[in-house]
Amino acid sequence: MRKPFIAGNWKMNTDRATAVELATAVARQADQLNNVELAVCPPSIYLDAVATALSHSGVALGAQNMYHEPSGAFTGELSAAMLLDIGCRYVILGHSERRHLLGETDQDVNRKLHAALAAGLTPIVCVGEQLQQREAGQTRQVIQQQFTGSLAGLSPQDAAGIVIAYEPVWAIGTGKVATPQQAQEVHLDLRKLLADRYNIDVADAVRIQYGGSVKPDNAAELLAQPDIDGALVGGASLEADSFLAIAGAA
Ligand code: PEP
Repeated sequence: MRKPFIAGNWKMNTDRATAVELATAVARQADQLNNVELAVCPPSIYLDAVATALSHSGVALGAQNMYHEPSGAFTGELSAAMLLDIGCRYVILGHSERRHLLGETDQDVNRKLHAALAAGLTPIVCVGEQLQQREAGQTRQVIQQQFTGSLAGLSPQDAAGIVIAYEPVWAIGTGKVATPQQAQEVHLDLRKLLADRYNIDVADAVRIQYGGSVKPDNAAELLAQPDIDGALVGGASLEADSFLAIAGAA
């Protein structure tokens, strides 16, 4: 049985005080939620402060990105070990904003994935098609390509421990949510890819989150789908009440 997992991606939002306030509010109320795992992913500059606010709570800390090298002359980058050191359990990899605004490739995501796992972080690997790809009937092909490239060389044991987030790019930050049926269809495809590439145990173990304009009023229907195991939440994670209402729907 996969435990639902709701993660908040704060992106480049908040300041130090609001990050701490938000994390404190989430941590305070999270205790009342059973059978759902929660994580928040603040901007990296606030990871330390948010880690302190989350201590003694069951809410996990995640980073929004990392670099694949362990250390060295990589100005501005952060390693997996640094994220672990500061208290992260999760790291988001290959978010569509990194893929499409910052030119990150499947190969980049793959390198980061191996480095994250080697360090002991749990990666949340994002995949998702753009609007013109969906309209051209290429969704399955795009997802398969991102899945294959991003997960290349992963052992079944490592694969069983990752989280995948299906985030149709056209639904991110647009208010245009995928229908539960559209999302379920892709989630099922991803689970079949896991079964084909690895085995049925891996396919059963991996949690696949949906992301793209998840809000308190559409979360329950999405999360009721058999292959949707949680949500990666952007905008609605910036308010404790809406984030927790989504978690409550899980
Ligand atoms: C995201 O950035 O991962 C996301 C899903 O954003 P939003 O919920 O705002 O669409």
